[in-house]
Amino acid sequence: MNPRKLIATARALRELGFDEVYITEEKHKEPVKEDKAELLRKLYQQMEEERKCILYEGASGYVFGEGDPNSPVVFVGEAPGEEEDKLKRPFVGKAGQYLNSKLEQVGLKREKVYITNVVKSRPPGNRAPTREEMSSCLPYLRKEIEIIKPKLLVCLGSTAMKGILGKEYPITKSRGQTFPYPYNPSIKVFLTYHPAYVLRNPSADKEFTEDLKKVVQLISQA
Ligand code: URA
Repeated sequence: MNPRKLIATARALRELGFDEVYITEEKHKEPVKEDKAELLRKLYQQMEEERKCILYEGASGYVFGEGDPNSPVVFVGEAPGEEEDKLKRPFVGKAGQYLNSKLEQVGLKREKVYITNVVKSRPPGNRAPTREEMSSCLPYLRKEIEIIKPKLLVCLGSTAMKGILGKEYPITKSRGQTFPYPYNPSIKVFLTYHPAYVLRNPSADKEFTEDLKKVVQLISQA
């Protein structure tokens, strides 16, 4: 309030019989920020209600991402397999166990990172998801990423890369490289092998380890 108006108001109040006027400042209230875990829980609920992400016949439901929602890194796989479908958790089968051991090897704890998939339910016979199937689930993955806002998105294999960057990259040439995430260029996208591929091709283990070491470096940079 300008000083003249303030004096005029004080006079008017004195004439009305007030001797003292106390002015209290309303503290600026921050809007309550919902925490990331809660936002993710709501997103999962929304996905379950909308059923827009194509739910495969025979699959027992959606497998949502899991892990630390405040992690600087999100690992993105292709789609749940048989074990994941049973337990409704990503990467809990053989490929998941191998991924866990490799994370540990480079000093990352599984529960301290966030792990998810492009497609949220198991394609029949573990086939690769079609373009249509991927498109139906991608809005949920993008929202997951928007909530978490990690520093780095690690695509495990070319299907994840296609989902995240919208086009295919030759994995042998592009692994170990970073690209800007199209929906938020401050997030880097990193490509490496899918753990199931490394299990089938043990000679790729060395490169996979190198890539994971690079992931550690990238997330520890300011
Ligand atoms: N392969 C994937 O791509 N995702 C899983 O969750 C499990 C295996």
